Amino acid sequence: MPVVEIDRAALIANWRMLDSRNPGARTGAAVKANGYGLGAAEVAAALSEAGCRDFFVAWAEEGAALRNSLDRLPANASTASAAPRIYVLQGLEPATVPLHLARNLTPVLSTPDDIAVWREGLRAAASKAPAALQLESGMNRLGLAAEDARSAADIAACGELDLCLVMSHLASADEATSQSAEQLDRFRTLAGLFPSIPRSFANSAGVFLGPDFAFDLTRPGIALYGGEAGPGSSEAIRTVARLTASVLQVRIAKAGEAVGYGAAARLSRDTRIATVGIGYADGYHRAASGAGVGMRQLRPGAEAILAGRRVPVLGRVSMDLTLLDVTDLPEDAVRPGARAEFFGPDMPIDAVATAAGTIAYELLTGLGPRVKRCWSSDGPLN
Ligand SMILES: *Cc1c(COP(=O)(O)O)cnc(C)c1O
Repeated sequence: MPVVEIDRAALIANWRMLDSRNPGARTGAAVKANGYGLGAAEVAAALSEAGCRDFFVAWAEEGAALRNSLDRLPANASTASAAPRIYVLQGLEPATVPLHLARNLTPVLSTPDDIAVWREGLRAAASKAPAALQLESGMNRLGLAAEDARSAADIAACGELDLCLVMSHLASADEATSQSAEQLDRFRTLAGLFPSIPRSFANSAGVFLGPDFAFDLTRPGIALYGGEAGPGSSEAIRTVARLTASVLQVRIAKAGEAVGYGAAARLSRDTRIATVGIGYADGYHRAASGAGVGMRQLRPGAEAILAGRRVPVLGRVSMDLTLLDVTDLPEDAVRPGARAEFFGPDMPIDAVATAAGTIAYELLTGLGPRVKRCWSSDGPLN
């Protein structure tokens, strides 16, 4: 079966590295989508131990599950103070307000409707609880535009909305572009409507943009898990996850023969083929195929590591199996049972993502349910 090994110490080291880049700000963690596919409960436990007190999820249900697992952690010096905050980034519907209240989840209100639903829910429950506000600064995704932000500021000024954070999200922090500076200006202006409320702006790549972007709380995700976060970030970020699967069969096929579905790869030489037990149902993208998918005219397919060497994917990735061309490895270097690395310390996840026309985020969050998550307490991956 495919396995993803997760290096707990590297995850913690990445959080500490990000935290140290902006000493004036607290450092949170985005753990949505099951901790970027690796396991939100384990990620949050490790980062709590390191001192992280602010977690971001997408949905209230994710937040409730996370609260359950945080509640079960043994108390230690860093968890002895107030309960960690769990921010829910989206989806505030009337039916989810009781869950927010029961599980101490902090909604991120992004529309006038969100604000109305929250206030009405608090009234109905005769309850008080803080909320965060998301401000639109140039991404046009979720967030209050200027006029709605001004109305929210009026409501907050009358004491009818208890705010613990105002935030916005960067669209292109991982690229050299003027958009980040423009967003920063807009965020500063809108956040100015909420004097004395803590502010949050930076995702992983934003953490690397310097102190102007850090404000009071940063919200890194991908860099925690070992993905690149813009130019110059990769040296600082440790690899956290290694995806491996085992060779099931090794065979030699003759020049001229066809390989895999659709006979997509036609062999130009006698070829030694390793058949490996991982496929697109495990989150190894079909677009990583070596041939036979539309994008192969644009770029070569992905490579994996076997017997210490890079070897190319051959033909189409199928649901449960992937073929590797191991002709250039010494004979007998590969036998059934050997494990191939599809990303990890020797095969950068961002390189694999590029070959498959996607990003590391999608490779991690798309890891299938049958990929076994193995947390290493027994030594680093690299
Ligand atoms: C996912 C997300 C983050 C984390 O982004 P990374 O690029 O993974 O660091 C931060 N803030 C918001 C609002 C998000 O949706």
